[in-house]
Amino acid sequence: MSNDAIVCRNPADARQIVARYDAHDADGVAAACARAHAAQPAWAMLPGPRRGELLHRAADLLQRRGQRLAQTIVAEEGKLRADAAGEVRRAAAVLRFHAGEAERGGGDLRDAAEPGGLAFTRRRALGVVGLITPWNFPIAIPAWKLAPALAAGNAAVIKPASAAPGATLGLLDALREAGVPEDVAQAVLGGADVGRALVDDPHVRAVSFTGSTAVGRELAERARARGARFQGELGGNNPLVVLADADPELALALACEGAFAAAGQKCTATRRLIVQEPLYEQVLEAFAGRARSLRMGAGDSDGAQVPPLISPAAAEDVAGAVTQARTLGADVLAGGVRPDGELRHGGFYAPTVIAGAQPGMRVLDDEVFGPVCAVLPARDLDDAIALANAVPYGLSASVCTNDLAHALRFVRGAEAGMVHVNRPTPGADPHMPFGGLKASTASGWREQGQEAVRFFSDQQTVYVHGGGPAG
Ligand code: NAP
Repeated sequence: MSNDAIVCRNPADARQIVARYDAHDADGVAAACARAHAAQPAWAMLPGPRRGELLHRAADLLQRRGQRLAQTIVAEEGKLRADAAGEVRRAAAVLRFHAGEAERGGGDLRDAAEPGGLAFTRRRALGVVGLITPWNFPIAIPAWKLAPALAAGNAAVIKPASAAPGATLGLLDALREAGVPEDVAQAVLGGADVGRALVDDPHVRAVSFTGSTAVGRELAERARARGARFQGELGGNNPLVVLADADPELALALACEGAFAAAGQKCTATRRLIVQEPLYEQVLEAFAGRARSLRMGAGDSDGAQVPPLISPAAAEDVAGAVTQARTLGADVLAGGVRPDGELRHGGFYAPTVIAGAQPGMRVLDDEVFGPVCAVLPARDLDDAIALANAVPYGLSASVCTNDLAHALRFVRGAEAGMVHVNRPTPGADPHMPFGGLKASTASGWREQGQEAVRFFSDQQTVYVHGGGPAG
């Protein structure tokens, strides 16, 4: 540990300090990785079903502590109470899925070409893995990295985001109390230096990172330079396409959920609403009206619909992007302001709808991590697909339509790792692969579902022969 403290502030009122944690330094990271290295072989020797049992037990503990963990998430990260509780349930579900994967193991059994022989494949743990996570899902994302890493027999060292590490530490407590050895799942706390030290540590065979594209690319190079495997789940700039045959009410519900839930602080949030003529004007007006009607408030306040951003600085960054769009000629039809009164002490930013955005504006070109959505008209399906793809990112894309042929053309045309039909851009099931294309990934590896275990293991091919005469 170094003397530096991590100070977490209430996103709804940054005057309040809600937690302090000791930070690690480079020596602390090295010591944690060395302990993990020493502990990993015994963990990998434990039969998969036994590792699975411990993950199930940790899931039970998370469920039992759901309310307390949700309070920690609300206090440090700021999301709505119900969303925080849902995130804890999600983390438990992820642990259970990978408990099942550990129990089942995986591999193919074949006849060997040699008479009397068998050949099979098995997955083999890598050793020590480093995990670096963002603040916006402080228990779900750590769970979806830790669970497959541990299920596969690795030891893991995780660096959670400094803004909200409490829930990640709660997850590690649950794993330890469930019986996972302390050195097999450890946290190191601190900022960029601690993250870099983890990526550079010679014991770390693979790094799984979720966060911004800029940081992910920097860390991908560092890891690859020393031959470590790297997975990077990065930013998004996700489109929802509304076709002329869509149900406008459904389209509005999907747009509001996608753009404004969690104040737009999801990598899969809807940043661009692309509406086919002749629905454009109608949907634009109704969407702006809905945005104006949403109530901002602290995550633990009754009736709040849009929580604060992680910090006032994050709200200022969003404000800067909206001001730039306005200055360059876009129309801000709803929001575009930070509230005053008591809310001015938090990271609040009003749900914002922008028309007339053009390339060159951050709201179209970049990932603006807040409740801001640009609405664009499209002539037809091809035009809508071209607009949807006209950004460097490719995480999630949705289409709202009542025509199956249109939906399938959109699925084929969308440059996105995840495509939704008549669903919002966010949302993912724990048993399905999760990840992006283009600038939304640093590697192409997938998280979640059975795919997740691939990143955290090597495949081994085994030939077995009885040793006696063939046959
Ligand atoms: P971030 O700034 O990239 O940080 C992510 C993690 O990396 C944090 O633990 C951070 O530590 C650490 N870090 C920052 N700079 C570093 C550096 N130079 N070297 C080593 N580590 C470093 O992202 P964020 O603001 O926490 O999260 C928001 C971003 O995550 C958005 O871009 C969002 O789209 C993306 N995200 C992607 C997915 C996905 O699955 N594709 C899911 C969720 C979020 P500190 O916190 O201490 O700075």
